Amino acid sequence: MSLKVGVVGGGQLARMMIAPAVELGAHIRVLAEAEGMSASLAASAVGDYRDAETVLAFARDVDVITFDHEHVPQDVLAALVDAGVSVHPGPHALGVAQDKLVMRARMEELGMPQPDWAAVTGRDELQAFLDDHGGRAVVKTPRGGYDGKGVRVVSAATEADDWFTTLAEDGNGGALLVEELVDFSRELAQQVARRPSGQMAVYPVVETVQRGGVCAEVIAPAPRAGERLAEVAASIGTAVAEGLGVTGMLAVELFETTDERLLINELAMRPHNSGHWSQDGAVTSQFEQHLRAVLDLPLGDTSPRAPWSMMVNILGGPAEASLESRFASVMDEHPAAKVHTYGKAPRPGRKVGHINVSGSDLDDVAYQARAAASHFED
Ligand code: ADP
Repeated sequence: MSLKVGVVGGGQLARMMIAPAVELGAHIRVLAEAEGMSASLAASAVGDYRDAETVLAFARDVDVITFDHEHVPQDVLAALVDAGVSVHPGPHALGVAQDKLVMRARMEELGMPQPDWAAVTGRDELQAFLDDHGGRAVVKTPRGGYDGKGVRVVSAATEADDWFTTLAEDGNGGALLVEELVDFSRELAQQVARRPSGQMAVYPVVETVQRGGVCAEVIAPAPRAGERLAEVAASIGTAVAEGLGVTGMLAVELFETTDERLLINELAMRPHNSGHWSQDGAVTSQFEQHLRAVLDLPLGDTSPRAPWSMMVNILGGPAEASLESRFASVMDEHPAAKVHTYGKAPRPGRKVGHINVSGSDLDDVAYQARAAASHFED
């Protein structure tokens, strides 16, 4: 049996699918946006994922198409499906992850717990929401946001004027998403893999720590997560995966509120930063699992290999400092740390790699992971 997977998008998520694909004996091909991207070692084409002809030509040689990101336009996805290409996740599911307003509406239909929200088209509607929610709220652009870009806490309706102006200029009569400002004690993430046949595999719920809107660290499983919390998180993850018909990996980002409720923040339908720990800390990594899911192969065991795992992102420092120049010191001092790099030029604040450490003592695991990552900081 030949297994040929085509990944649209040449970023680090595609890159990290390469090693498990090789291990499985699957052929992996990547449609990269440009030469020299993270996944360029498997890139068989460079082209624009917004162009249906380009993506159709790329898809001709593979059994299944999957994604490094959620930005492939619906008309391109529809063209693939019309041409008989197997696309996972499919256009309907992916559409929910592409637009935060669509996501909120679908989560409401599915009865999922989430912050109060509204679609607002102008200052008056935003002011009305603020008046109803204690004078502060979070405004989000529905599309294209990442790492906290496109998210703004506002206490006056005028603070979103520039975004309303941009929406008006786009001429699509669009709206912004406004949400209550959630009083959360921490952020969690629940990952679930789902096959086209419906089989699901649930990962342990993890704690994610953001700094400046960017994921900095992940602890797996989430500390102080009792059985009830883990069960509620898992049931949210499986209900979303089933309700939306997700195929492949799904990550549900959650707020744990100070009164111990879980509310959905957002969804990602692909391997996710919150699951990088699984490369070294789980029996089946999220990247292998994603491939198994999109190829409709039986899913792997999601159990942790150690009581605790921690992932610390490496953010780029000065452009002249190569990551490789730090390998000798970090590997010498932290032999338990697993270094993963993305083949990206280090620019300040850019995610260029991560460290994973697993073990039985959380304090020691956290110390080792942070200390190893700090070698790359300056
Ligand atoms: P992005 O798509 O850029 O990742 P998110 O919607 O995940 O944006 O928001 C980024 C961060 O902003 C979240 O991780 C959280 O810390 C904060 N945030 C988002 N929505 C809310 C909210 N409704 N209440 C409080 N904080 C929020």
